[in-house]
Amino acid sequence: MYRHIMFPSEQELQRYIRTSAPAHSYHSSAYYKDPTGDMSSKGWLGADLVFDIDADHFDVPCQKIHDKWSCRNCDQEGRGKPPEICECGKAQFDTETWLCEECLQAAKHEAQKLLDILIQDFGIEPENLLTNFSGHRGYHVHARSDSVKNLGQNSRREIVDYIMATGLEARFQGFNQQRRGARPTITEGGWRGRTLRALYDYLTQASEEDILALNLGEKATENITSKKNKILKTLMEKHPSNIIPLIDSTSLEKILQEALELQASEIDTVVTTDIHRLIRLTGTLHGKTGWQVQSIPYGALPDYDPLRNAIVIKGGLVRLEFKWAPKIRIIDEVYGPYEDEIAELPLEAALFFLAKKGARVID
Ligand SMILES: [Zn+2]
Ligand SMILES: [Zn+2]
Repeated sequence: MYRHIMFPSEQELQRYIRTSAPAHSYHSSAYYKDPTGDMSSKGWLGADLVFDIDADHFDVPCQKIHDKWSCRNCDQEGRGKPPEICECGKAQFDTETWLCEECLQAAKHEAQKLLDILIQDFGIEPENLLTNFSGHRGYHVHARSDSVKNLGQNSRREIVDYIMATGLEARFQGFNQQRRGARPTITEGGWRGRTLRALYDYLTQASEEDILALNLGEKATENITSKKNKILKTLMEKHPSNIIPLIDSTSLEKILQEALELQASEIDTVVTTDIHRLIRLTGTLHGKTGWQVQSIPYGALPDYDPLRNAIVIKGGLVRLEFKWAPKIRIIDEVYGPYEDEIAELPLEAALFFLAKKGARVID
């Protein structure tokens, strides 16, 4: 790790990267009077508000296909995330985590929700938001407006809680019959409108099994099944607290727990609260994939395809010996799964399996 370095110009930085060819390149999210000093003498001037979305942090079904764990103490092994404690009583595991189209899509969805909240609720102008593909399993969003640079850790923590809908209670979002207040509408900004949309979307999409799994009150379960249209109509046209006679408050909080997860964004809390965070440098390659950390222009995220755009090194065939690797699409071809075999792959695919340590080059 080479840290606490600065460059007088972009050309100097590029020359440094070309000569040293680091596997990973990061820059600080903070601004300093003297970036080369030790931490106490740098003189902190402020920091971008950064968000990290990594598919490794959420549960996606595809992890059961492409992630593996094995116990360091016994011969237990399995797919997906390791258990909290192994059958042998120890909790030390070796893990092998991969990625696929599905988890990258899930990460993109979280990033889009985050951008919506930052723009709609925090009023951050799109031109002050930098959205990057991380080069691996997710996305980074950097908010760079002057209004966020001086925020301390506690303020950043509040923003995290807001974005993740931590501790949000329905009764404070317009679902209180005794203290009604103004009627929230489905298009309203902030969590009042978003809570309403969350509930509306959830009730529209939830299957009967989903509802039963929530273990709601008997009457609430019955009403959601038999009077769904009435409930949805009430949410759209009347004060939403009018649904309380049909769905009791306790049941409503349970539904909202589920529904809000669909609207909140799964960000890494540690990254955002850190005021001197190191974050990947735009344009560099990620050492675990060989893919490029790329900026995505505002509005282009929905159509952004990391498995096409971020693959910048391409070339002729490379002979690889595989230990194990799950399947993945690279540009237009699907490769794998591979197990104890030899295969000849174009460089754009070979580089990925090499960087992920699933294969080695042979002559
Ligand atoms: Zn074990
Ligand atoms: Zn996946």
